[in-house]
Amino acid sequence: MKDSLAMMVRHHLRRAAIAGGLEAAHVLARTGLLGEARGRGAVFTLHHVRPRRYRTFDPNAHLEITPAFLDRTILTLKRAGYRFVALEALPECLGSADDRPFACFTLDDGYRNNLEWALPVFERHGVPFTVFVTAGYVDRSHTLWWETLADLLSASREFRFDFGDGAVLVPSGTSLQKQAAFGRIAAHIRGTDEASAVAALNDAAFEHGIDPLTITELLTLDEGGLRALISSPLASLGAHTISHRAVARLDDDEARREIASSAARVEAITGRHPLTFAYPYGHRPTVSSRDHRLAAELGFAVAVTTEPGTLCRGVNLHAVPRISLNGHFQSERHVSALASGIPFWRLGAR
Ligand SMILES: [Zn+2]
Repeated sequence: MKDSLAMMVRHHLRRAAIAGGLEAAHVLARTGLLGEARGRGAVFTLHHVRPRRYRTFDPNAHLEITPAFLDRTILTLKRAGYRFVALEALPECLGSADDRPFACFTLDDGYRNNLEWALPVFERHGVPFTVFVTAGYVDRSHTLWWETLADLLSASREFRFDFGDGAVLVPSGTSLQKQAAFGRIAAHIRGTDEASAVAALNDAAFEHGIDPLTITELLTLDEGGLRALISSPLASLGAHTISHRAVARLDDDEARREIASSAARVEAITGRHPLTFAYPYGHRPTVSSRDHRLAAELGFAVAVTTEPGTLCRGVNLHAVPRISLNGHFQSERHVSALASGIPFWRLGAR
């Protein structure tokens, strides 16, 4: 109990620190002194775009924004003089003499709501965007562990989970217990063989009548959905591996296979080799310099991380930082603050 309290406190402090950084950056941005931090432009990361559904336990709320917030984000960037370009045009933009800042929009994992809710917003503003497709979701062969875990915790008061030494009972009756269990199992998935940990989670979910592949089916676009998406000239598809595991933790052959096969799967839908790739999770321990090299060798013009930052000339095109639009901070002043690049300095992330 003490541990989960400490975890909750840390979680809230961190969120307050981010919000503090964003507010401070908003004030600084209004002084007009931030040209250098803003760099040449920014790549934004989105996941779900859908109307807010209030759930009592919602550990993935940071991964969703509303269509209205996406709309306001685009308007805020337009007012700040940004031009909007497709991610695959990034190398050209960085080398161009046009010194107006530019923004690229990317959406990871290939959610159905990208077609239903995000596309109409992008179309209204004529803004290009790239959806990073996880091939194992398209083909309904792989599951989204963070969604499975959220559903399992919402539905259970306790559940059996095998951390590798036989099943133990994990309490999940109260909000604190759910929060703690989410952190504990997420850490286990990050810290051990990801495929077996996810398989153990899927077993636990099944015991509570939850079919993780049904979640994949409900949440993500299949091939028909992706074809509908790319019937818009604004939409491009990029690759995002087959199984959505941390690439840095795979051996060379497997890492190469995951990246190359997902590119082939996208090519089978679009008719051309994708020029862009997003590393699953995308922050430092999940992506290595070997992976940057692999992405370059496998023919991608641009590979994106989730390391926060804005863009400058000379950025490594196979380790491009992005700015996450976070469901907890959905106001215009957060967007201009994020685009300024300053919050990352305050958080020491650059
Ligand atoms: Zn992803």
